[in-house]
Amino acid sequence: MLNELLAVTVFSGAALASARWTWWRGAARGLPALVYHKIGKPPEGSKLKDLWVSPEKFRSQVAWLLAHGYVPVLFSEVSKAQKGGKPLPANAVLITFDDGYENNYTHAYKILRELGAKGNIFIVFNTIGKANLWHDPGTEPWINMASMKMLTEMQESGVMEFGSHTMSHPNLEKLPLEDAAWELTESKKQLEAALGREMSAFAYPYGAGAYTPAIRALALKAGYVLDFSFRQGKTPWPWNREAGPIDRLFIKGGDNNLDLRLQLTRGASRLW
Ligand SMILES: [Zn+2]
Repeated sequence: MLNELLAVTVFSGAALASARWTWWRGAARGLPALVYHKIGKPPEGSKLKDLWVSPEKFRSQVAWLLAHGYVPVLFSEVSKAQKGGKPLPANAVLITFDDGYENNYTHAYKILRELGAKGNIFIVFNTIGKANLWHDPGTEPWINMASMKMLTEMQESGVMEFGSHTMSHPNLEKLPLEDAAWELTESKKQLEAALGREMSAFAYPYGAGAYTPAIRALALKAGYVLDFSFRQGKTPWPWNREAGPIDRLFIKGGDNNLDLRLQLTRGASRLW
């Protein structure tokens, strides 16, 4: 037991030191894409408390990014760069949110706007203005999703852009391929009609299908320029789109700014 503890202590010390050591290299090598879900306080009965980041913590993380020279970018900037347009700034960072909760509007958007940063939200089209209906309310309470009015305001501000997270948040690997294809194409079409902008980015619900060639092929065929997985890590930029989706850095409610720094440099903060 003591030996194990010692080994963990030595390992963690070494990992932290080496993360500091590779700091400048890490920032240059890949595009960090942070993934958040909910900004606020978890409701009673929430089993997924780690998906909630307090507004204070979110504010401090965004302020930290800006103070350390990171440049938050929008999906449209990343997709243009991917297509050979204006290259991304060297210290570009993508701040992304999955699902499209109302608290992304009431907290995240307002904090980003106030600090002069930018973010991006993956929307589940059928739940706009409703609730997180794909969750069993017995284990994860239903809360409000952002309304179309909120989405429009956020888009017009230039602070937030949107991508698709399907129509209804299914596990795409569990659907017949034709239904998975419909989730991908219909959500793109509906979001584009509702928001009047190209939806160039897609995130796989639960990350499911991101590394399944038949499903990923459907996402690319649907016309998404960028597709995002749920796998922990940083994808090299320029991005080899053929090789696989863009990995992300999962921000948990308990993370501090050291976690954020290690995530950005190492692609992970706590490896045990
Ligand atoms: Zn999701």
